Amino acid sequence: MDERDETIETLDPKDWTAFRARAHAMLDAALDRMQNGSDGPVWRDPTAELKAAFDVALPVDGLGPEAVDRQISELLPFGVGNTHPRFFGWVHGSGTPSQVVAEMAASAMNANLGGREHGAIHVEKQVIRWCREIFGFPAEASGLIVSGTSMATIVALKAAREARLGVSVRKAGVGEARLTGYASALVHGCADRAFDMLGLGSEALRRVPVDDTGAMDLAALREAIARDRAAGLTPFALIGTAGSVDLGTIDDLDALADIAAEEDLWFHVDGAFGALGVLVEALRPRLNGIERADSLAFDFHKWLHVTYDAGCVLIRSEEAHRQAFSDRPRYLKGAERGLAAGNPWPVDYGPELSRTFRALKVWAQLAEHGTARLGRMIARNCHQAAYLGRLVEADAALELLAPVRLNICCFRYRGQGGDPDALNDEIVIRLQELGIAAPSTTTVEGRKAIRVNITNHRTRLSDLDLLVEAVKRIGAEIEAGGKRP
Ligand SMILES: *Cc1c(COP(=O)(O)O)cnc(C)c1O
Repeated sequence: MDERDETIETLDPKDWTAFRARAHAMLDAALDRMQNGSDGPVWRDPTAELKAAFDVALPVDGLGPEAVDRQISELLPFGVGNTHPRFFGWVHGSGTPSQVVAEMAASAMNANLGGREHGAIHVEKQVIRWCREIFGFPAEASGLIVSGTSMATIVALKAAREARLGVSVRKAGVGEARLTGYASALVHGCADRAFDMLGLGSEALRRVPVDDTGAMDLAALREAIARDRAAGLTPFALIGTAGSVDLGTIDDLDALADIAAEEDLWFHVDGAFGALGVLVEALRPRLNGIERADSLAFDFHKWLHVTYDAGCVLIRSEEAHRQAFSDRPRYLKGAERGLAAGNPWPVDYGPELSRTFRALKVWAQLAEHGTARLGRMIARNCHQAAYLGRLVEADAALELLAPVRLNICCFRYRGQGGDPDALNDEIVIRLQELGIAAPSTTTVEGRKAIRVNITNHRTRLSDLDLLVEAVKRIGAEIEAGGKRP
């Protein structure tokens, strides 16, 4: 076979005109899905058909574009539900249509952001500069766009670990060192996972009780540190929470920064969603001290509505950051000029070599809408959560389980006896199965709560009216012995 010139087989389309028509059709299907995203159920259980269609033998001979596009189109309605105005579960951002545009361009460039000198790298640098400015970090601080706060926390705490034990720990391991860290009882589980993955053991992360505002109790923190020092352990990190996942509570970051300085601890802030409160004038004072953190982890895919996934780590000491990760072997050596220039590379700041071009969609979101508009969406969600809190308090059938402090409202249906925990679990499952709304649940002081988190620029007050009405109706139906839907 003569595979020269035009006859060579590639994976590109043979007929670009037909390919354009195909691509435009899928773009239309995707945009239809977004334009009509507020109609229909919030969530639908993946059907047996759908699951079967994704459980077939490995195609040795391709199925061809028509079959593939049909299957993708059939998949489109089966999202998590977070693009819908009544998605209130966990902490999910809701995305924006213009993200589709940026993702399309990023896909076309197919850039690898592990390093080297090319346009995409400068987009990421721009995003990091903007983030430093948003949070008041110094110009020397470094940063990396990562998959989310879980990864950002690992990166930050690795820098913290090496800052304490010295970079030799990278080769020798932690050995006999017994490092301990401190966080509020409301800290997210990603911190435990980071301690686990860094070889410190998740038990080395001490959970400090919170006061009645939900912030870390400072006296209890000092006691915990002193106890560990007396036992011969080595306290090294203090983690502040800016927006707890259960209740949206915020630690006193300024006070934590003081204690970290006194005790010589690395001060890390988990600001997954709450840190972006700095974009709202009224919330900013509650985040005072965030600019003093040694490291900050936060997400773009939550309250900034960037498409999944995209988070960020900022580290005050660029040197500490680089020393925790830089180790380029011979085949990755940099250069002064040419494609291997542009040092240091992102691979010097995190565990991944090949990296997707997340930076473009983040840049596009910030550049198109601006921080003022994005901040208005955040402020509105907080007002909406407070509105829901007032609806709950005004209704004898419902009970507010914690004050609404940010964008999260935890409440429950009181019921007439029986097991209120099981009742509220069932209400939430039915709300989801009926596609009416998608809150999640948590436990507040031992009591099961319907947890409504609003990180959603599409939610309206009428969606919250509808939610309350549905909770009461479904609660009454269950109590009357109603069958599952
Ligand atoms: C979501 C969340 C995380 C984890 O972030 P991912 O982006 O899901 O990895 C950590 N902390 C808090 C407070 C969160 O809300």
